[in-house]
Amino acid sequence: MTEPTHGEAHGGTLGSRLNWLRAGVLGANDGIVSTAGLVVGVAGATDDRSALLTAGLAGLLAGSMSMAAGEYVSVSTQRDSEQAALAVERRELREQPEAELEELTELLEERGLTRAVAMDAAVQLTERDALRAHARVELGIDPDDLTNPWQAAGASFLAFTAGALLPLLAMVLPPATGRLPITVASVLAALVLTGWSSARLGAAEPVRAVLRNVAGGALAMGVTYAAGSLLGAAGV
Ligand SMILES: [Zn+2]
Repeated sequence: MTEPTHGEAHGGTLGSRLNWLRAGVLGANDGIVSTAGLVVGVAGATDDRSALLTAGLAGLLAGSMSMAAGEYVSVSTQRDSEQAALAVERRELREQPEAELEELTELLEERGLTRAVAMDAAVQLTERDALRAHARVELGIDPDDLTNPWQAAGASFLAFTAGALLPLLAMVLPPATGRLPITVASVLAALVLTGWSSARLGAAEPVRAVLRNVAGGALAMGVTYAAGSLLGAAGV
């Protein structure tokens, strides 16, 4: 195996950056909806500001930690399987370089190169960095750019927290009479924005995505408000 000597920046492809951005928007959307449902539900039962603040903050922390932990586990697992696949590839390259060269040639042929050109390309790629070539062409991964689980967890935590802050602050900052309409209005406006952005980033039709997103948030707040009001009226 040769030592990698590539100098290009590993900022990820445009597609992978868009995926990150879209994951951030969806994480913020989760933070908005779940925290809005929580504080609106508590507001149905009580107008005690410190109860609202406690519930909202607990919801923010619980949600962002759970998102971060889930992301950490899922990315770690993916990374483990990518590293296992790279280890197999490394061993195969060491033990049967001829077969691996033939394999790479065939994979390049499948992508539309003639046998002769594919053979040439496979030889050159193998001389330069065989593992990297096999990782990219055969496994579809870049061995120098595996997703870091801590980074993914941190990004999820921040995205959820950023979203959750909106309904939390909208609920606890205004005077008691304004807090519910201000929270509902700002949450629905934010859901228009996140629905629209995630649709655009995913190249989907935005109007329907916005309507679904706003309807989902409105439903969440309606249901928790009704439940909170029933509990409040029952004096629980
Ligand atoms: Zn291979």
